[in-house]
Amino acid sequence: MTTTRFAPSPTGYIHVGNLRTALMNFLIAKKSGGTFILRIDDTDPERSKQEYVDAIQEDMEWLGLTWDKIERQSERLDRYVAAADKLREMGRFYECFETPVELDLKRKKQLNMGKPPVYDRAALALSEGDKAKLRAERGDGHWRFKLDQARIGWTDGVLGDISIDAASVSDPVLIRGDGQFLYTLASVVDDTEMGVTHVVRGSDHVTNTATQIQMIQALGGTVPTFAHHSLLTGPQGESLSKRLGTLALRDLREAGVEPMALLSMMARLGSSQPLELRHGIDEIAEGFDVNQFGSAPTKFDVNDVYPLTGRLLGEMDLDAVAADVATAGVPDDMAAQFWSVIRANIGTRKDIAGWWDLFENGADPVVEDEDKEFVAQAMALLPEGPFDDETWGAWTKAVKAETGRKGRGLFMPLRKALTGQAHGPDMSAVLPLLKVIKARG
Ligand code: GLU
Repeated sequence: MTTTRFAPSPTGYIHVGNLRTALMNFLIAKKSGGTFILRIDDTDPERSKQEYVDAIQEDMEWLGLTWDKIERQSERLDRYVAAADKLREMGRFYECFETPVELDLKRKKQLNMGKPPVYDRAALALSEGDKAKLRAERGDGHWRFKLDQARIGWTDGVLGDISIDAASVSDPVLIRGDGQFLYTLASVVDDTEMGVTHVVRGSDHVTNTATQIQMIQALGGTVPTFAHHSLLTGPQGESLSKRLGTLALRDLREAGVEPMALLSMMARLGSSQPLELRHGIDEIAEGFDVNQFGSAPTKFDVNDVYPLTGRLLGEMDLDAVAADVATAGVPDDMAAQFWSVIRANIGTRKDIAGWWDLFENGADPVVEDEDKEFVAQAMALLPEGPFDDETWGAWTKAVKAETGRKGRGLFMPLRKALTGQAHGPDMSAVLPLLKVIKARG
């Protein structure tokens, strides 16, 4: 039975980078009828906020990435204490007392000597007496997991066969001096106890994975299948880390991005499979394969998601937008006609109200200087309403006969005069909906 999890730390709003992780884990579970866990990594009481926990759930629900179970690390601290005790008994866990400044100094010295900045394990040499003394002076120490200094290898769903020499990695700190558990251990305990079979996360976690594999093995768990997707970059390949704050999922929602447009894109971006616009999460799951993703950094341009949003809306039936159409003030008996006229011409749902307003209240005409006379002549020929779908054809024919204009020179000034815009639906469909014609003067 497949079990996956998405494990955000609730220290901020989740963004497109997190979405990639969430979606991949969701799809793996979905595709195989497995279980998807939303795990809130809130072991840091200072930085974790309930506000963000709520926001994460809201964002996931907006996208339809619903979870089968939700877990919170802050409610499982006793499990982590038990695991830490077990590691201690096995001699794989040791207390260290170096201050951050001392550690920094050690690192700098190593780097100066051309050595990798790996923790030198000085604390292993401390006697019980030394430790008692240090504890009295400095308070409780922090606890490190003693790595077995061998090569740690695994077959990664994205990176293929990969291995890391544990001797090149510092023994990871799992409990801080203030007693706070770090997610590194918490995650191992949770993944093991919750039966997580597949872990997809960013390639920034590759070294963690190596050390966590040893922890899982030490604690007698089963190592899940790991896959590390590449990190997103901006359109020019620039780092996104500073900009991710502006790519929060809630901001995209606010801007009118459609969930399925974003999901269709994120399920394919960086993979060898072509991007196809999907209308339901099941459709996306069907073709999803994490092994198709490449390890190279993946370019993401938020501007690409808007055309997809527009295309998706254009393909939607009235049912899918009925609430927005009603909210815009469109009477029920006109909704179908209205939607069929505008559907191919909207960027986001927010544009719906704008079109209805235009039809109801008319648009301020846009008339270029050189078209002033022409537009005045044409308006004189426009019959009184109501219009039907023949009106535009008959009218422009009459205007053409009178003015000699044709083609774009004939149609564009009229479109701009009637709708105030250079683009929009077929004018023969627009005209019957247009109640007010400000260009009549
Ligand atoms: N809370 C961790 C993070 O957001 C989870 C990493 C993991 O998936 O194990 O980076």
